[in-house]
Amino acid sequence: MTTLEKKVTRLEVVEPKQLNFGKKWDYAPAPEATDFVKIKPRYELFIGGKFVKPKSGNYFKSINPATEEVLTEVAEANEADVDAAVRAARNAYEKYWSKLAPAERAKYIFRIARQLQEKGREFAILETMDGGKPIKEARDGDIPLSVAHFFYYAGWADKLEYAFPGRKCRPLGVAGQVIPWNFPLLMAAWKLAPALACGNTVVLKPAETTPLTALHLAQIIQEADLPPGVVNIVTGFGKTGAALVKHPDINKIAFTGSTEVGKGIMKSIAGTGKKMTLELGGKAANIIFEDAPMDQAIEGIINGIYFNQGHVCCAGSRLFVQESVKDIVIRKLYDRIQTLRVGNPLDKNTDVGAINSREQLGKIKELVESGVQEGCKLHQSACELPKKGFWFPPTFFTGVAQSNRIAQEEIFGPVLSVLTFRTPEEAVEKANNTAYGLSAGVWTDKGSKIFKISSKLKAGVIWANTYNKFDPTSPFGGYKESGFGREGGLHGLLPYVKLVR
Ligand code: NAP
Ligand code: MG
Repeated sequence: MTTLEKKVTRLEVVEPKQLNFGKKWDYAPAPEATDFVKIKPRYELFIGGKFVKPKSGNYFKSINPATEEVLTEVAEANEADVDAAVRAARNAYEKYWSKLAPAERAKYIFRIARQLQEKGREFAILETMDGGKPIKEARDGDIPLSVAHFFYYAGWADKLEYAFPGRKCRPLGVAGQVIPWNFPLLMAAWKLAPALACGNTVVLKPAETTPLTALHLAQIIQEADLPPGVVNIVTGFGKTGAALVKHPDINKIAFTGSTEVGKGIMKSIAGTGKKMTLELGGKAANIIFEDAPMDQAIEGIINGIYFNQGHVCCAGSRLFVQESVKDIVIRKLYDRIQTLRVGNPLDKNTDVGAINSREQLGKIKELVESGVQEGCKLHQSACELPKKGFWFPPTFFTGVAQSNRIAQEEIFGPVLSVLTFRTPEEAVEKANNTAYGLSAGVWTDKGSKIFKISSKLKAGVIWANTYNKFDPTSPFGGYKESGFGREGGLHGLLPYVKLVR
């Protein structure tokens, strides 16, 4: 530890009113222009290559969670609509997609990737307006990563024999895919790209609060001239997802969302022979040792939990700090959250945007309240929150015990629980003390310690001296109640193929 850090360690953590951060200066507003983005007043279902009215006759509203303004209304698919979509997908599978040469399939997927890349700015704005995430995240994260997934899996379509040497692989048929609201376009890309590359056709159900980018992707798919029915998009609520999951003519279910719904889906398809992958919740541990590069680690921790308002299944929501550096880490964390800019997600300077829905805000508040009731110490940013919309300030708790709800349950908001440890063994034991096993982070100066610790952590993805880094070539997925199966990379092909000798 440097002399300066030793001095800082002795500082007391002070309360927001004493610090008055954010009042001294701020950036001038830098809002992204939205006038060239055309949001239609109403969106229909995308079935058999066409936008069709729902048999249900019902529509629901999608709002901007930062302003509560209604953006559009979207068709609600009922069982009959889902059935029509599955039939269209089956027909497309049998008539066109399974008969197409793999290199031809690749061309279509490349076409989607290029079109999406061309319209990247429009998609970033739509994602921000519909879901509340900061434009800099949608623009620099969600959209380029979605494009990269389509490019990456387009490349695999005619090379599958190299992915599984000595084996032949066949597509499964029709895939039913259900996705959440935290990364709407990215989750669609993670699901569609490998399914199509492997020769399957798809029915996709986006989340009810964030259907817009998937529906605009449907327009791209139409323009890319994919054979009708290869991709179908049915919007709606949980009931729509349930109808898709239980449809008898589906061969494969891919689901990302809550552990609770994931478990229900598993039960509902038991014994049907449907292949399945589940990407569920998480309660990731970020472990910071006394020899870690401290400022880098603080930035990584900030990125790990306040990024995307903590609406991230792999969010580093538990921080384990070695006791010798506890004071300095807490002090630095406290100072840093005061400088995070919370507000208009369309502003290019915004770090923390709006909470996705009123319902999610309620869940965050309830869990934060439980932390206070259980005696943990609350630290919050003193930022001013906008009057309209759904907002929660960057928050962390100290004095957290392993048994507290905020140390065990997924909050899915910008809330961090800070715990401490003395030895590496204790860090591993505490980090693994959760029902989840999606991701983790290790911060230390020693490469050997990274290998030792990460080999003992029960998590699907482990970052070292960094956090929340994604790449289409790298597999992602969980252990325990975080689900099973991998998305991304060569591993992400496996859930969409049948291997034959
Ligand atoms: P969720 O209910 O699991 O929703 C995920 C997707 O499943 C949505 O498209 C949802 O539709 C659909 N769905 C809901 N009930 C279904 C059912 N019975 N059968 C099939 N599909 C169904 O998650 P949520 O309500 O959006 O969020 C609840 C919690 O899940 C969050 O607080 C968070 O803890 C967790 N979560 C995890 C992730 C992740 O990436 N691991 C993502 C989002 C949420 P609707 O949108 O219409 O409900
Ligand atoms: Mg919305």
